[in-house]
Amino acid sequence: MNCRHCKTPLTHPFLDLGFAPPSNAYLTQADLASPEKYFPLKVMVCDHCWLVQTEDYAQADELFNADYAYFSSTSTGWLAHAAHYAEKMIAAFGLKHDSHVIEVAANDGYLLKNFVVSGIPCLGIEPTASTAAAAEKLGIPVLREFFGEALGQRLAAEGKQADLIVGNNVYAHVPDINDFTQGLKAALKPGGTITLEFPHLMHLIEHTQFDTVYHEHFSYLSLYTVDRIFQAAGLRIFDVERLPTHGGSLRIYGCHAEDTRPNSPTVAALLGEEAHRGLQTLATYQDFQARADQVKNDLLDFLIQQKKAGKKVVAYGAAAKGNTLLNYAGVKPDLLPYVCDAAASKQGKFLPGSHIPILSPQKLFEFKIDYILILPWNISNEIQAQYNNLKIKGLKFVIASPYLQIL
Ligand SMILES: [Zn+2]
Repeated sequence: MNCRHCKTPLTHPFLDLGFAPPSNAYLTQADLASPEKYFPLKVMVCDHCWLVQTEDYAQADELFNADYAYFSSTSTGWLAHAAHYAEKMIAAFGLKHDSHVIEVAANDGYLLKNFVVSGIPCLGIEPTASTAAAAEKLGIPVLREFFGEALGQRLAAEGKQADLIVGNNVYAHVPDINDFTQGLKAALKPGGTITLEFPHLMHLIEHTQFDTVYHEHFSYLSLYTVDRIFQAAGLRIFDVERLPTHGGSLRIYGCHAEDTRPNSPTVAALLGEEAHRGLQTLATYQDFQARADQVKNDLLDFLIQQKKAGKKVVAYGAAAKGNTLLNYAGVKPDLLPYVCDAAASKQGKFLPGSHIPILSPQKLFEFKIDYILILPWNISNEIQAQYNNLKIKGLKFVIASPYLQIL
């Protein structure tokens, strides 16, 4: 296989998690009577452009036929993040009633609704039917399509180029990152701005966030590599912010290469920091597997110890990252009898692979529990605050990465 960006043959493994089912393929009771499909989950690093990427595998299309249940609006922290973002962009770029905002992967309208309220015309692009329908109910026009160069050019031809194109947690999920970036170029007005948020590879490596690896997540991105991809598409990154979301994300600001806005010094500073931390050095990528294995082994050890001691451990948050961790560790309901999740669309279903049942958070109050393993560690503060009354009663919260911690 060749690098998805620069086409250099990929020869260096970064992480091999064996085989896993699609991390968002939640199962119904009826599904449990059928065979479950597992796909290889292996990540490689390109030693030319340093794009970290999942290895191609057969029948990849099957993974993306499912109508995923994730609705962004179920996380209150994420809603606040989106509202703050909209306010900041409207002020920074002087967005008005004659501006146009496009969000790629608009999900259920969690973000664009803030622009609608301010009277700024917007367009959501969202191929998933259930979330697109939710966004439309909020008065947001939605194109139910995948984004790429063809759609970008069509929007341009229809006079629908944007002053602001937003892509939050979509850039790492697109299989053809060059085509997607060409689409951004085509759909951007002269003088317009692109902002993309994605988890920062530097944090993934430093904090052993191997559970953020899953099939739908094709790329693991540094500023260095995204800068190269933007340049190749005739775009330029003129600013970057570091965000705490998803365990450490970047928000990059892009414009046309010929835009007159100067680069913020933060761009060169972060490029320098990435280089200093070895993101363009092969050795940095070569010891990651051993660190991931340590996280897995420590979690298993904890669960077995608690089981032997007669303690009850359950999980909170039926998130994709939890599925990666539980499936790599081979955890089943004997060690973790259920997981609670606030999303009604997931309750009554089962986690892929582990077949751990997903129940309403109400169950946390009905049985005696000793530990709650928080699977989406990136929102562990939000979850702890929400269930603080359980903590007062002596129940403890646990997270598995970057190392096992009782909170
Ligand atoms: Zn490459």
